[in-house]
Amino acid sequence: MASVPAYDKFAVYNLRSNFQRAPGFITSCPMCSSKVETIAIPPTAAYWQDYETLLIPVHDYTYLHNCPHCGWWGLRESWQDAEYHGESDYLTSGILAEWDISSKSIPISILTNYLQTKDPKSDYRQIDSQVFEKLIAECLKYEYAPCEVYHVGSRRGEGDGGVDILMIKDDTEWLIQVKRRVNNKLESVDAVRMLNGVLLREGKRFGMFITSAANFTKDAKSETDIKTPGAYGVRLINRGDIHGMIARLPRSLEPPWERSASNPKMYSGPLFSMSEEFTALFEPYESRKLMDQYFRSDAFRDRYHERLKQAQPKASADKQ
Ligand SMILES: [Zn+2]
Repeated sequence: MASVPAYDKFAVYNLRSNFQRAPGFITSCPMCSSKVETIAIPPTAAYWQDYETLLIPVHDYTYLHNCPHCGWWGLRESWQDAEYHGESDYLTSGILAEWDISSKSIPISILTNYLQTKDPKSDYRQIDSQVFEKLIAECLKYEYAPCEVYHVGSRRGEGDGGVDILMIKDDTEWLIQVKRRVNNKLESVDAVRMLNGVLLREGKRFGMFITSAANFTKDAKSETDIKTPGAYGVRLINRGDIHGMIARLPRSLEPPWERSASNPKMYSGPLFSMSEEFTALFEPYESRKLMDQYFRSDAFRDRYHERLKQAQPKASADKQ
């Protein structure tokens, strides 16, 4: 059974309790030892949450470490309360979750990214049939945009010849059947006849038959040539067409670290203690020279007095 890796969970380490003094940075990936890329990013939502409670907050840095080889990521963020010389220094580390490709709860964005990069010629037979229908619904939303797509498969039982997806495009309703086949047979004429029957029963004119089978039989294809007056159309979509639709889907725009960076409670959950192997990946301790310079600077004094002024009227108001 194929497993689909994604760093969509995280662990938070408080570096002030894991190290005696502020350590330097991670330069190699804790998962695969490749060299990591490091860029400065704006402070996270969790930093701003803490910022509100500080008298004289000083933001040191927020860095994103990213492993181009395996996808591991880490967020390193440090800030201080200059009034109390309290320092916060955290590393949030992406955790590799292994999704079973046949899982009923695998996120469609993770499945899509996996199929696009790791398994572009999938035969889809390992994917849960409901998940497969949702994946196809995502493809249709993109291919026929703007349109409305409803995944209705879960509400109807299998084998009633029902509809899995309803699509409304330019006021036209399309009834769509999705079949995730587990054998190597071509899609037969019977399957297409069944869809034609559903269209007739529902009084609809447009349908699609989307199958993970490699192709349709000749008879199945000719079954869509119906000499009915007026608009009528059934589109037959095979495995190769599905490969194309999945390849064209935009990659998930939200990298997993962004979900953490926008989570104001990122530092409020449980803190992990760091293994010795992990600790060893950090560069030796940095000097705190930069901070000492800041405390002696005019910028610091100005800010200090400004914050004191802001704090005083509130303090006297509290006494009354
Ligand atoms: Zn790596």
